[in-house]
Amino acid sequence: MPLIEPQLVLLHPDRRIGADMARWRNSGGGEALARAAQDPAAVREEIRLADLRGLGGSGFPAWRKWDMVAAEAPKPDKYLIVNGNEDEPGTFKDRMLLEETPHQVIEGAAVAALAVGINRVVFYINPDMVRSITAMKTALDQWRSSDLLTLASTALGKPLELELLPGSGHYIGGEETAAMEWVESRFPFPRGKPPYPAQAGVHGCPTLINNVETLANVSHIVVHGAAWFRALGKAPSTGTKLYSLSGDVLHPGVFELPMGTPLRELIFVHGGGLLSDKPLKAVFTGGPSSTLLTPADLDVALDFESLRARGSNLGTGAMIVISEGTGIVKRVAEYERFFAHSSCGQCNSCKVGTATMSRLLDRIDTGRGTAADLTTLENLCTMLPGSGRCHLINGAVLLLDSAFRHFHDEFKQALR
Ligand code: SF4
Repeated sequence: MPLIEPQLVLLHPDRRIGADMARWRNSGGGEALARAAQDPAAVREEIRLADLRGLGGSGFPAWRKWDMVAAEAPKPDKYLIVNGNEDEPGTFKDRMLLEETPHQVIEGAAVAALAVGINRVVFYINPDMVRSITAMKTALDQWRSSDLLTLASTALGKPLELELLPGSGHYIGGEETAAMEWVESRFPFPRGKPPYPAQAGVHGCPTLINNVETLANVSHIVVHGAAWFRALGKAPSTGTKLYSLSGDVLHPGVFELPMGTPLRELIFVHGGGLLSDKPLKAVFTGGPSSTLLTPADLDVALDFESLRARGSNLGTGAMIVISEGTGIVKRVAEYERFFAHSSCGQCNSCKVGTATMSRLLDRIDTGRGTAADLTTLENLCTMLPGSGRCHLINGAVLLLDSAFRHFHDEFKQALR
C-alpha cells in the first residue's frame, strides 16, 4: 500500500507555537488578513473554489454559509461564532488547534469576518479545555493591541470585536442554535429552525457558525490559493483533515492527512496498527454518533462522500478503534449512556428514548436483559429517528442500529 505522506498545514511546526504573536508574524502570520482587507469579496470566491467544508461534522460547503450571511443586512450587527465546544467522545483536534495555534484560528476568523461583513466574533470554547482557553485569552489580548485589528476594523468600516466565551460544558451546546442561546446568556437548548442562523441568529442578527478547524484553513487558502488547497486532498476531496485516532491502536493521537486518506492507512501506518497485533473488530466513526465501520471497510476513503456512500459519516474525523475481544454491547451501552446524559430534555422522544435505550442496554450488558428488551430496542430504532429538534437523537439511534446490523449475535448472546 503506497504511503500518503502527512501534509502538515494546520499542524506545521511553524504554526504550533502557542500564543507567540511575534513568531507567528515572522512566519507569515497576518498576510491573509492584509489581503482580505484589500479585497474581501475575492476571499469568498477563493473559499468557494477551494471547496472548503464544515469540518465540525456537517461537511456542508463553508462558502454557502458565508454567502447566506453576506447577503443579509446587519441588524445592527452580524455575528461569527467560532465553535470550539468539542465535547464528543473520541474527538480532540480543536483543542490542539486552539492551544497550539491560536493565531492561526483567530486570523481565519478575522478573514471570514471581513469577507462576510461580520463585526462581532465570539470564540466559543469548551470550558474544560483550560489550556486552550488560556492560550486563546493571551492571543486575543495580543490581537487587541496589534495593528492587525486596526487594519481589520478600518476595512470593515466599524470596530471588529473579538470575544472569548467559555461554553456551558454541555455536549448539546455544540449544536449551532444551542451555541447561540448560550451566547445570549441562556441555557443551551437547541432552537427550532427556521429561522436559520444566517437569517436570525444571536439577538436576531445574521450569524455565521463555523468550526475551529474550518476557520483554521482560511488564511492558508487566501495566501496559497484554491488550487493549492484542492491539490492537498485525495481527489475529488480537497485539503487536509485532522483525524482524532483513539481506542485500541498503538499510537493514538491527532493526524493531519490528506482528506480522503484510506482508513487502513490511518490505523495501520500512522496509528501503528492495533495493540498486541489483535485483529480489528470495528471503528466508531465521527465520534460514536454514527454507524460503525468493520474490517470490510478498511479501504474506504475517509471523506464526507465516501463514508456517506457506505451509510456512515466522517463527522468530526474521530475514529475510535475496537479490537477483537472487546465487547460491542458494553461499548454501545457506554455511548448510549453518554447520549442519555447529554439530552437536553426538550423533546420527550429524546429524553425518554435515550434514557430507555441506555437502561435496556445496561441490563443486557450486565446479563439481566430479556428478548423483550432487545425487541423494544429494535422498535425504538425505527420509531425515534427524526423525532427530535436536533441531531442528538438520530446519532444515538444510528449507533445502536448499526451495532445491531453488524453484531446482532453479541446482543442475543448477552441476554439472560
Ligand atoms: Fe434536546 Fe434531544 Fe430534543 Fe436535541 S433532540 S433538542 S438534545 S431533547
